[in-house]
Amino acid sequence: MESIILNLINKDKFGGNMEKLEVLKEVFGFSSFREGQEDLIDNILNGRDTLGIMPTGAGKSMCYQLPALMLEGITLVVSPLISLMKDQVNSLIEQGINAAYLNSSLSISQFNKVLDNARENKYKIIYIAPERLLTDEFLSFIQAVKVSMITIDEAHCVSQWGQDFRPSYLRILNFINRFNERPIVSAFTATATSQVKEDIIEQLGLYNPYVLTTGFDRKNLYFSVEKPVDKFSTLLEYINKNKQKCGIVYCSTRKTVDEVCRKLNEVGLNATKYHSGLSDDERRENQDAFIYDKCNIIVATNAFGMGIDKSNVSFVIHYNMPKNIESYYQEAGRAGRDGEPADCILLYGGQDVITNQFLIDQPNGNEMLDEETMLAVKEKDRELLRIMTYYCHTKECLRAYILNYFGEETSGSCGNCSSCNTEFNLEDITVEAQKILSCIIRANERFGIKMIIDILRGSKGQRLLSYNLNKLSTYGIMSGVSEKKIREIINFLILEEYIYITKDQFPVIKCTKKASEILFDGKRVNMKVNKLEESSKGSWLSKSKPMDTQIDDGLFELLRALRNKIATATHVPAYIVFADAALRDMCIKMPTNDEEFLLVSGVGQAKLLKYGKDFIGAINEYKQNNV
Ligand code: ADP
Ligand code: MG
Repeated sequence: MESIILNLINKDKFGGNMEKLEVLKEVFGFSSFREGQEDLIDNILNGRDTLGIMPTGAGKSMCYQLPALMLEGITLVVSPLISLMKDQVNSLIEQGINAAYLNSSLSISQFNKVLDNARENKYKIIYIAPERLLTDEFLSFIQAVKVSMITIDEAHCVSQWGQDFRPSYLRILNFINRFNERPIVSAFTATATSQVKEDIIEQLGLYNPYVLTTGFDRKNLYFSVEKPVDKFSTLLEYINKNKQKCGIVYCSTRKTVDEVCRKLNEVGLNATKYHSGLSDDERRENQDAFIYDKCNIIVATNAFGMGIDKSNVSFVIHYNMPKNIESYYQEAGRAGRDGEPADCILLYGGQDVITNQFLIDQPNGNEMLDEETMLAVKEKDRELLRIMTYYCHTKECLRAYILNYFGEETSGSCGNCSSCNTEFNLEDITVEAQKILSCIIRANERFGIKMIIDILRGSKGQRLLSYNLNKLSTYGIMSGVSEKKIREIINFLILEEYIYITKDQFPVIKCTKKASEILFDGKRVNMKVNKLEESSKGSWLSKSKPMDTQIDDGLFELLRALRNKIATATHVPAYIVFADAALRDMCIKMPTNDEEFLLVSGVGQAKLLKYGKDFIGAINEYKQNNV
């Protein structure tokens, strides 16, 4: 296909090069930039290296796709996942931009065909897997063309401190250094702590970069942690109360995905599933069923979701606790992209910690690292898991916990999470805390949580007796207290930094300096306990508010059906044809000619040409019959 857009941009329809706002409207169909986009784009266009840190759904792709069209030559986008590349390229082609990808899904002849086309300047944007960068063909290819920019999407993958370290990302800098004339380098990620941020800059060799971090808060998301005795019935209860809504249920293993999906189907719910154990065809089919709204629930492992831009996801339920806050916030963040109220619920169980620990100790693609680095990575993973676990135990504001983790200041109480919505009593736990702290010290700070609890409760376990721990003065001094309660207090003492857990493979608890305040200075400590175990019930069934602007449901359904028909016929996901937001805008503006249609958010020249006639026709017909 000849690119309409390149013609627009290159041949001066606008008396010279198009300005960035014109490109935004003509190509992408949007009339204004979102927070952060314009700054990042301006810096790129000025030739400066750039790092953009913005939450999921903020619109990072725009920050490199738009300048890619305005810069001379080609932009290479390094991206970690095949599905992600395909999705992005599909979406660009729909917008009339010639783009392609290079990854292991292509045959050798397809691969060479892409390179041949690229040598003839047929593409503005090429997505490439990091593994391909340093191959001989590709290195000789880049000598023959003009590369203006290299973009690294999901840039946190380059950092071993990030949640999704990919050793192949370490090749990128070497690749950048192969250019005689260094291209602009721009990098993007949704989640980066300051350590990861520094690491991205260093590992990618960003030169005096412009770094922009937008706020991470997603105000329309309701956060909740539940600790149900029976996870499945809790899930079922929620889904039954939200029957009309679409949502994702994340599980940590394939086996759990299979089981939860089967049980939902057994009670007649329209759920499908997604994990890496399914065949490519089945995965695609199930994903499409969810995206095309044929199934309203998808049960999935974390393999699902990256690069999926389904805007009307109303809930994300974690059936298991994920391995770290970064993953959690990214997965939960797939809810409510349309800005509508949405629920992010985590169903916690103690087994989740054990499963995650097991996964950390499994081989996981880090084998190319040396022994020392690999151990450091595992140690970091365990630390991140602990921070995730404390999220499930804190009684303080959940949103504040997450935002503070990403280095943002908060007021400490959001009023829109299960902690803020639960009534607590304060319980004086000073004596219990003293007992626990002295036990840790008596045992010479050499044991883990479980052993400390066993000593306090007077267990007769083999290991305990073999270390003579039954001789300690703290042995059995909490024999009347349940293990669960002692654990709760220990978690509280960790959160309040009276004790900490070491980072080794066999972690032990130790006291911090602050512990002496309780032990020797007479400090009293109060812990929040639920006033009524029941009081939080129902709070996670947050009520979705009606839309700001009421739209005509009948027309919306009609347009949605038309979109689905086109999507199915052209094998393009429905949200790539038009996002829900675009359909909604059509219902508000009810365009009846090309000019009016172009005013719709998400309609650029390419989409006008492709779909204008059908949608305008449908709207006209609807108006005649109904308005
Ligand atoms: P991210 O990569 O940051 O998670 P995406 O780049 O996938 O987010 O964009 C999320 C959604 O926001 C997409 O549907 C995109 O079309 C939309 N979007 C991006 N920029 C704008 C804009 N300026 N105005 C309206 N919608 C936008
Ligand atoms: Mg993205």
